[in-house]
Amino acid sequence: MNDILINKTTSYFTDTFGTEPSKVILSPGRINIIGEHIDYNDGYVLPAAIDKIICFAFEKNNSNKSRIIAIDLDDEFEIDLSAEVEHDDKVWTNYIRGVIHQLKSKGFELEGVNCVFSSDIPVGSGLSSSAALECGFLFGMNEIFNLNIKPIDIALLGQKAEHWVGINCGIMDQFSSVVGKKDKVIKIDCRTLEYTYHDANFSNYSLILFDSNVKHSLMTSAYNERRQQCDEGIAIVKQHNPEIQSFRDCNEETIISLKDKMSHDVYRRSLFVVKEINRVIQACDALDNGNIEALGALMFATHEGLSQNYEVSCAELDELVDLAQKEESVIGSRLMGGGFGGCTINLVKKGFEEEVKSKFTKSYFDTFGIELKIYDVTIGNGTSVHQYR
Ligand code: ADP
Ligand code: MG
Repeated sequence: MNDILINKTTSYFTDTFGTEPSKVILSPGRINIIGEHIDYNDGYVLPAAIDKIICFAFEKNNSNKSRIIAIDLDDEFEIDLSAEVEHDDKVWTNYIRGVIHQLKSKGFELEGVNCVFSSDIPVGSGLSSSAALECGFLFGMNEIFNLNIKPIDIALLGQKAEHWVGINCGIMDQFSSVVGKKDKVIKIDCRTLEYTYHDANFSNYSLILFDSNVKHSLMTSAYNERRQQCDEGIAIVKQHNPEIQSFRDCNEETIISLKDKMSHDVYRRSLFVVKEINRVIQACDALDNGNIEALGALMFATHEGLSQNYEVSCAELDELVDLAQKEESVIGSRLMGGGFGGCTINLVKKGFEEEVKSKFTKSYFDTFGIELKIYDVTIGNGTSVHQYR
């Protein structure tokens, strides 16, 4: 599958520039098994890089300008590296501009490159095509100019580039895209950025994503509001328990005992966060012990929390999880990512995949008149150089 994408990208490069690229970089999207909305709450997350990637072909062009071509959009732009980096109306170019801006701010002297890229990561479905774009471009610049940037710093610079674009994201997406490993999930401590790999052995179950194919505009405002509510929640906790630094140090009882001190919403958000942090720890144990059914139950519990207490779901995602709950061969399902649209992540018993897919497609269309999109995912490597010659 990746071979077709790599051939397409490198041939396009050669046809356009008349030389072979000197570096080919593959940069993956990511899933998150569990641990939602807690990367900005000092929690743990459990993501993994996937086998869907952006492929980049690079070559120095011995000038002061870079020319970047997005094959999928049939679009390109040129950037003068000696000038101040500015935002542009074409949003996709800002992810690259953001990276160049970060590199320049760090004092790196850049020369021009020709770069062509193409992707099979669905865009805007919560699989982090944006992180793959930032981190892949950064990784390529690092390789070509021997900038000696460490993987973790590639992730951090990628995150800063996305902030520059205007999205106040946490670190999980860039981190997973960079440090991902085939057949491993990454447990990331979002407080310290320490991480450990765990076997992604789902035994008798397949990972399937159902894409609701909707994106409600509430997303950004709700995200900012949730962050603010969590800040308020933890401030109240600290006020009454000076020894507590973050939600990580709380248990459910701590929050319940402060119910009267919090608004109804702040209380429910705080309770979700504390429960979700614990679910990630339990999910990791379940995975380590091969207890995939327990993992599935935790995923359902996460969805219920996201829907009822954190209130970031929507009718379409709730319906997809409802369908999963009624289906014996689906043992876990939840909305993945920020919410208000995008995908659900599901554990489906092997042998039943096609049956479940066609049932869900029909039922989802009957209810909403919307075409369900489906992605099979396996867990792949983080951003890397591809030896193609
Ligand atoms: P997600 O990261 O969940 O896929 P985002 O909205 O964060 O969704 O990022 C998607 C944006 O990233 C696109 O709107 C586009 O600007 C950029 N992007 C992603 N993939 C490509 C691609 N193949 N070609 C050009 N731009 C892309
Ligand atoms: Mg994104």
